[in-house]
Amino acid sequence: QARFDVDAVRRDFPILGQQVNGKPLVYLDNGASAQKPLAVLDAMDRYYREMHSNVHRGAHTLGDRATSAFEGAREKVRAFMNAASTREIIWTRGTTEAINLIANGLAQRLKAGDEILVSQMEHHANIVPWQMMAERTGAKVVPVPVTPAGELDLDSFNSLLGDNTKILALTHVSNVLGTINPVAALVEQAKARGVITVIDGAQAVPHFQPDVQALGCDFYMFSAHKLFGPTGIGALYGRAELLEEMPPYQGGGEMIERVSFERTTWNTLPYKFEAGTPAIAEAVGLGAAIDYLDGLDREGMQAAEDALLVRANELVETVPGMEIIGTAKNKVPVMSFKIEGLHPSDIGTLLDQQGIAIRTGHHCAMPLMDFYGVPGTARASFAFYNTMEEVEQLFTALQKVQRLFA
Ligand code: PMP
Repeated sequence: QARFDVDAVRRDFPILGQQVNGKPLVYLDNGASAQKPLAVLDAMDRYYREMHSNVHRGAHTLGDRATSAFEGAREKVRAFMNAASTREIIWTRGTTEAINLIANGLAQRLKAGDEILVSQMEHHANIVPWQMMAERTGAKVVPVPVTPAGELDLDSFNSLLGDNTKILALTHVSNVLGTINPVAALVEQAKARGVITVIDGAQAVPHFQPDVQALGCDFYMFSAHKLFGPTGIGALYGRAELLEEMPPYQGGGEMIERVSFERTTWNTLPYKFEAGTPAIAEAVGLGAAIDYLDGLDREGMQAAEDALLVRANELVETVPGMEIIGTAKNKVPVMSFKIEGLHPSDIGTLLDQQGIAIRTGHHCAMPLMDFYGVPGTARASFAFYNTMEEVEQLFTALQKVQRLFA
């Protein structure tokens, strides 16, 4: 059993201590957005109290402080993902914007008949930008099916990865199923064919640290708000050669080297992709979230998370008619489920009355809902600050809901 001290960790998250609907809050909607430790709140507060100014202007002391806090955060993100250089770390608004930026930037490489391989388990953020790009270029978005257990169908992957495949856009971890995809192996196969690889890390980073050099992917992105940091910011890793050849995403201040009405030239990486005043305090907050995580016992934390999932799986049989969707061997503690005779949104409402927050609906993954033939699921997604008691409370509440309403 893990040595990880969950009670101590919970004290770092003030929001978790409250009551909701007269019951202690049990927050199991971490996949949608995670809560923030004091370290993040304090870092952002301190930034605004002591150092706020615009960045990269260099004329005065506050500007220097803000710039070094902001660029310091970029270095923390680089180290977190093990990228080779901060030139390869671009601030975005989040995962969604990062994927749009890349789809836009790669469009010039595509022609009619080219294929973008995605999977059936993608979030809409890793489908729709590619469809928009396909619309512009005549390329085609091709989904790799999943198995009933919620794993990527590798035989199909092998047959669909073909001469026309130009881009592989794949989620590291499914937000609905919790499945961890074998990204390193798939990237290796894709790269052997010269395919550009884009990995959506939104649901992976809250549970483990990615190593972009070991994965070998060309692009990797995540949102700070799921990594215990603020909303409004995320990070994109891109291989420098590809970023160099891509056109900018937005035009404006900061992203230029020189502007004239005859000819405008672009700034160097990463600034070429960062038009306008960035989310400075949010970058500082994300840096603080990464520092906070670095200070935790990562192995103990993972063991504790795994134990939560094992316990949840054991308890499924205590709720008549409950069925888990997504039973991959390798998964993070995310549990999508249905209960016979109950609509997912009713499950969500009835749990909320007992202080338990989960997510219900299609989870921005309609093609996956279609595959399972359901309009939506109920989803409990755990973080390292969740306790065994909370898992048990969830099941006690589900038993009650099932008894009274199914
Ligand atoms: N991809 C996955 C797998 C996600 O879970 C999410 C968020 N639900 C996103 C992309 C989009 O992230 P954001 O809304 O923060 O841009």
